[in-house]
Amino acid sequence: MMRLPLFEFRAPRTLEEAAQILDGERANAMPLAGGTDLLPNMKRRQQVPRTLMSLRHIESLNRVALNDSGSRLGACLTLSDIAADPRFRNGLTALAQAASLVAKAASLVATPQIRNMATLGGNICLDTRCNYYDQSYEWRKSINFCLKKDGTTCWVAPGSSRCMAVSSTDTGPALMALGARVRLVSHSGEREVLLSNLYNNDGIDYIKRRPDEILAEVLLDSRGRSSLPSAGRYRCGKFAVRPPIKSASHRRSCRNCGSNSQAARQH
Ligand SMILES: Cc1cc2nc3c(=O)[nH]c(=O)nc-3n(C[C@H](O)[C@H](O)[C@H](O)COP(=O)(O)OP(=O)(O)OC[C@H]3O[C@@H](n4cnc5c(N)ncnc54)[C@H](O)[C@@H]3O)c2cc1C
Ligand code: SF4
Repeated sequence: MMRLPLFEFRAPRTLEEAAQILDGERANAMPLAGGTDLLPNMKRRQQVPRTLMSLRHIESLNRVALNDSGSRLGACLTLSDIAADPRFRNGLTALAQAASLVAKAASLVATPQIRNMATLGGNICLDTRCNYYDQSYEWRKSINFCLKKDGTTCWVAPGSSRCMAVSSTDTGPALMALGARVRLVSHSGEREVLLSNLYNNDGIDYIKRRPDEILAEVLLDSRGRSSLPSAGRYRCGKFAVRPPIKSASHRRSCRNCGSNSQAARQH
């Protein structure tokens, strides 16, 4: 049986309190949302934060606001919440159609049990992985670990100085195609980042979120609305968007928005 390492547990009630905790702890603490990615990683000793800070009691992270001028999805909405919300499916407004794309992506992630726990923020921030990394501590030790954690060689590309691990997020590509932004909150302030700019092309340093920042919301606005009709065809793993295709130049495809994450439109 794989056991969790010892850790301190914090459960703030407000975003401000959470930001203060991360400010004090910096890289020693990690936010915990549904735990479907982080807790197994801790059991495998891939991530060993001294402090786990639960986000589940922060009311503001569970809010959803959909209207014609813009939509805000709280980071702690579960993928089941999103997939089941009728407001994402009414199809009456262009924004609702955009949101239904996110709901479609959310409904295709993993299994119902995982979707009941997994959150939107966690799905966007989840760790990168490959077959050599996604293993128990003992298994990884038997190959002398790897570049991403405790080792020196990348077993996917032994000549590479860069980790090739990719993110398995399914909501990320859908949100990128919609021009989504994320609101990152820290003790020192907040900033909005285009989701397509959030990721680095590196399996180790894969995300531009600072350790003291909480992903509070995903924002969709009229840019997301207007991008869909001209977006051409997006295909990211399990789902695709295909508005009427007028010419070959309208066809775009994106097979993998993993460590080389870019707006699907740009591929
Ligand atoms: C068997 C299995 C199958 C899966 N299949 C799929 C699949 O088909 N498609 C897919 O997309 N995913 C898949 N996943 C991944 C799953 O979707 C993620 O584990 C889940 O979305 C992570 O969300 P969480 O809330 O549990 O995150 P957590 O495990 O709590 O956190 C994940 C990471 O994000 C950070 N984090 C979480 N929330 C925030 C926040 N608000 N601000 C800042 N940082 C935050 C944590 O610190 C951690 O680093 C699968 C997972 C499993 C176990
Ligand atoms: S360095 Fe990255 S891609 Fe290479 S084996 Fe490790 S996790 Fe996989």
